[in-house]
Amino acid sequence: MTTLTVLGVLAGAALAGCGGVSPAPAPTPGASTPGASTPAAPEKPPTMAPGPAGRTPVFERRPTGGGAAGRPVEKVVALTFDADMTADQGPRAASGERFDNPELVALLRRLKVPSTVFMTGRWAEEYPAQAKAIGTDPMFEIANHSYSHYAFSSPCYGLPVVGRAAMAREVERAFSAFRKAGARNVVPYFRFPGGCYDDTALRALAPANVTAVQWDVVSGDAFATDADAVAEQVLDGVRPGSLVVMHCTRSAAPATEAAVRRIVPELRERGYRFVKVSELMEDRPRGVLRK
Ligand SMILES: [Zn+2]
Repeated sequence: MTTLTVLGVLAGAALAGCGGVSPAPAPTPGASTPGASTPAAPEKPPTMAPGPAGRTPVFERRPTGGGAAGRPVEKVVALTFDADMTADQGPRAASGERFDNPELVALLRRLKVPSTVFMTGRWAEEYPAQAKAIGTDPMFEIANHSYSHYAFSSPCYGLPVVGRAAMAREVERAFSAFRKAGARNVVPYFRFPGGCYDDTALRALAPANVTAVQWDVVSGDAFATDADAVAEQVLDGVRPGSLVVMHCTRSAAPATEAAVRRIVPELRERGYRFVKVSELMEDRPRGVLRK
């Protein structure tokens, strides 16, 4: 029995970067009296059990909006933002190209939209202050998008390919970059660059102990310039329990902030509540893990 899952439509998932932050991190609520031990540790994020032979499990959306567990279908949706930066884009960043998007992150804060940022290790190294600000703000959680943003299966939008032996290390190296930047709200979730994976990759990543996270709604924001088209694609696609993939880099996804500005109030108007991936997965009915 195979663990392979259908990839679905991946249009525009390959490149683009995300990130950003502007204000300094807000103090942690109820935080630190001098001499207090460690800051309140975040609750342990839910994960999925490994598949056969230890294969990395894959999560795509909350099935049926949660109704299968006997609770009513809940109108929740997770917006996720990929902070892409490939290992070889340093010179472009040095010459002024922005792979971050502080305005987008500020907007998410202003609108109070809990979000999950899938960050590459390379991005955290380029923008350590922003990685720390995102990773210490309870509004956000940082998940892993590999260190280099190279492909874990081929072909994948022309991305260079990671060898099987280096796959788990790619994930560990990104976690290490987040720690080094000072991020704390880090969850053990991994998004394959470009969403590209196969059975070999799921096996090779077993030692990394992550849950892979795909999506069911493609925003189409990569390289898009028409914010309304992006917003409409998302608004058309969202159902209860949906997981939306977007990006936050000004250079490769310039319309995202404007699209989010439209998406958030419209979905709230329809009765949706925004959650992080960890909350979407938390309410996942037991016993229906993907096999
Ligand atoms: Zn990506």
